[in-house]
Amino acid sequence: MAQLIDGKAVAARVRAEVKADVEILKAERGLVPGLTVVRVGEDPASKIYVNGKKKAAEEVGFNSWEEHPDASISEAELLAIVHRLNEDPAVHGILVQLPLPKHIDAERIISAVKPEKDVDGFHPMNAGKLSLGKPGLRPCTPFGVMRLLKEAGCDPSGKRAVVVGRSNIVGKPMALMLLAADATVTVCHRKSNLAAEVANADIVVAAVGVPELIKGEWIKPGAVVIDVGMNRMADGKLKGDVEFEKAKERASFITPVPGGVGPMTIAMLMRNTLIAASGGI
Ligand code: NAP
Repeated sequence: MAQLIDGKAVAARVRAEVKADVEILKAERGLVPGLTVVRVGEDPASKIYVNGKKKAAEEVGFNSWEEHPDASISEAELLAIVHRLNEDPAVHGILVQLPLPKHIDAERIISAVKPEKDVDGFHPMNAGKLSLGKPGLRPCTPFGVMRLLKEAGCDPSGKRAVVVGRSNIVGKPMALMLLAADATVTVCHRKSNLAAEVANADIVVAAVGVPELIKGEWIKPGAVVIDVGMNRMADGKLKGDVEFEKAKERASFITPVPGGVGPMTIAMLMRNTLIAASGGI
């Protein structure tokens, strides 16, 4: 029977560490990290996410601001906001909440954020640095998964890791971070034989967006299972990408959904903003 990896508790620890580092930055350099979240329009899910980010930023002692233009804002006007924030010395981190309205090219907006203020880690420069194995700001969700593995005492070095999903925000950066940690990494997608690949894995990271796609019986006994999936079911409950009840019978460690990877994303955003403010990369 697997031990649960308590993402809520680990995330609280990460935020407490950031808060302690903020105190030091304030005392030694008179510097208060500043995070601005740009939320365009009235997407209800974005509002909840942004509120969570603002709350966490205030709790750790950052200055926190929100830019909230109307959904009718033009791409040029949004670019002007990003350029202004890029030049504002009090703003160390800029996060443009996705999704953006359809008439705006999200890639163009993300690429306009200064790479050193790109606390989401989505800028092509930061993605490139990750793939080159150079220091840079890392995407928050896979960055959080690496911390969860550490907390579970799982050193990826020499282990077989299978990442299911190859998105630019989770799957691909996850695979690169595991590779950088010396795992032997396989990345799966729609054309993969998931059962066969997962059965070989010492570490499974599921980032698919399909409830319970990863069957418990596929899990190698003793594997560490990290479920990034957050699927809202008809009853309003959240379900992961892994068949949790059966997987936990075989895994050594497993993250629950909710309460696993989810809370880590915001905590690592705080960590990234601190890194951006302190020039630590
Ligand atoms: P995404 O962009 O939709 O990518 C999904 C990936 O899964 C794609 O690479 C896709 O393969 C693969 N996939 C889909 N169906 C598959 C199937 N039947 N068999 C094999 N592979 C399949 O999703 P994402 O943004 O990476 O997010 C993945 C999940 O993580 C979602 O549930 C999302 O809500 C969750 N998430 C959670 C957090 C958090 O903070 N906890 C953050 C981000 C995302 P192809 O490339 O072949 O299409």
